[in-house]
Amino acid sequence: SRQSRIRNFSIIAHIDHGKSTLADRILEATQALTQREMKAQTLDAMDLERERGITIKLNAVELTYKAPNGETYIFHLIDTPGHVDFSYEVSRSLAACEGALLVVDAAQGVEAQTLANVYLALENNLEIIPVINKIDLPNADPERVKQEIEDVIGLDASEAVLASAKTGIGTDDILAQIIDKIPAPDGDPNAPLQALIFDSLYDAYRGVVVYIRVVQGTVRVGDKIKMMAGEKTFEVLEVGVSTPKIENRQELSVGDVGFITASIKSVHDTQVGDTVTHAEHPAEKPLPGYRKMNPMVYCGLYPIDTARYDDLREALGRLELNDSALQYEPETSEALGFGFRCGFLGLLHMDIVQERLEREFNIDLIATAPSVIYQVKLTDGSSVRVGNPSEMPERKFIAEVEEPYVKATIMTPNDYVGAIMELCQRKRGEFVTMEYLDANRTNVIYDLPLSEIMYDFFDILKSSTKGYASLDYEMDGYRTSDLVKMDILLNGERVDALSVIVHQEFAYDRGKAIVERLKELIPRQQFEVPIQAAIGQKIISRSTIKALRKNVLAKCYGGDVSRKRKLLEKQKEGKKRMKAVGSVEVPQEAFMAVFRMS
Ligand code: GDP
Ligand code: MG
Repeated sequence: SRQSRIRNFSIIAHIDHGKSTLADRILEATQALTQREMKAQTLDAMDLERERGITIKLNAVELTYKAPNGETYIFHLIDTPGHVDFSYEVSRSLAACEGALLVVDAAQGVEAQTLANVYLALENNLEIIPVINKIDLPNADPERVKQEIEDVIGLDASEAVLASAKTGIGTDDILAQIIDKIPAPDGDPNAPLQALIFDSLYDAYRGVVVYIRVVQGTVRVGDKIKMMAGEKTFEVLEVGVSTPKIENRQELSVGDVGFITASIKSVHDTQVGDTVTHAEHPAEKPLPGYRKMNPMVYCGLYPIDTARYDDLREALGRLELNDSALQYEPETSEALGFGFRCGFLGLLHMDIVQERLEREFNIDLIATAPSVIYQVKLTDGSSVRVGNPSEMPERKFIAEVEEPYVKATIMTPNDYVGAIMELCQRKRGEFVTMEYLDANRTNVIYDLPLSEIMYDFFDILKSSTKGYASLDYEMDGYRTSDLVKMDILLNGERVDALSVIVHQEFAYDRGKAIVERLKELIPRQQFEVPIQAAIGQKIISRSTIKALRKNVLAKCYGGDVSRKRKLLEKQKEGKKRMKAVGSVEVPQEAFMAVFRMS
């Protein structure tokens, strides 16, 4: 039967180990695209993914593979992101698969995200096929990596495929193992429909496009369906798959991975993780769905042009469909006007959302400094959650401030253990334990404040270990810390969007650093602008931006053409992300600087 020839699998790996490139080789081997249509990392369809060389969104394609044994198989391949911020995309795709290719770089070996992704795959009961990639590299050491897979992960690596996604070595072997080792989906095509929604997006013409994995039953064009979490019914207009060209079909049945459209106009009518069933003869209960992701980082997003507030709200609604981890609610700032407080899984996620809003919806934004969520116990016994530093209650009302901690696992060659401990200590970390993984590698485990690892922790970690250490972390509750709110005053006015929460011990140094940095970033105005950092009523640091002298500019606009052009370009750039705060023009970088310095 068709069902017995379906194989659903995902590719998991630490970032940069070659998932997307291997997906290209599989696309080629199944002749999904002609040579002319292939570009590198084909499944990274978003411009943003191509430019940054990272996978942000999961991507599902149906491929037809004519095996050497003469049989034709149907593969559903789901490519997934590697960065920690997007691991929710990974877990969503794994729930739609029976197997996973585990790609490990033959030179780098097993890394923290390799391990984290294997755990996700095991939780979903997937058959795991180890692939040691990049064996073409001169410093590849496949035998050592095989041993690591056995010792560190505990998987049998005796049949691991030695591959080069770059040259194509090993691709045939990978395809053969997919067929032999990954089970065909089980399920009854005649049972009541249960289809898991694993992604969605908004299309201006077709309405909401819902991506599903059919677990039981069959869905056809013309069927009346409903989402099990909602009440409304819809008529299926289109059923199809991506090959990666869009191909319409008459039906999707057990094991199929594809999309449906049904004139769903409101973004609130579908939820990732929900189950699609028939309006008549519905399934008894929904599929397990997904764990809800809680944002770890918040920031305010404000349209530079205040008239575009409604556009921003609509854009966030549409983006939310395609990014189920995004959360937002309206907020007002004295300095910036009407905007939204948005929640993200991490800084990369925040950065990507902001960029998608600007590109896909054409809205220029100011983002305030990211903040974690603080739990504040008040003297009257009540408590509040604060995700916006400017909303931190006055000190006299606060009994205790708690901040989120993570348990960080840093996998490193033994040589760098000292450097890592020093870094963690500097970031207010508390040592938990060390695990010796094999003769060369150690897991260093620390409890760290989330706010401390948000910004440059990862970069410092990489640079102080020559790129060899890798990081994975999970939330680990809240702890009391000695935190205070620091306000920034421009021209004597407190700017709510520039407030930050800092550790008492570092408050003076950071106040000073922030004030100095703002002095560099905020352009001179027609008048003198004092900048102050304050804790409560107490000014802890101050500096002054001198007034603009007209002749300085005049000089720049003189003869030197290239210099003039540069200046104009710079102004243009600056203009795009500049917001008038009271009487002072403040550039986007200033809002981020508050965070970088704190
Ligand atoms: P992903 O982050 O896991 O999706 O990794 P990519 O597929 O984007 O690959 C990361 C980098 O490694 C890219 O520059 C690829 O060209 C390169 N790469 C992938 N596979 C191989 C390989 O087999 N050999 C070599 N030498 N480079 C590879
Ligand atoms: Mg990729």
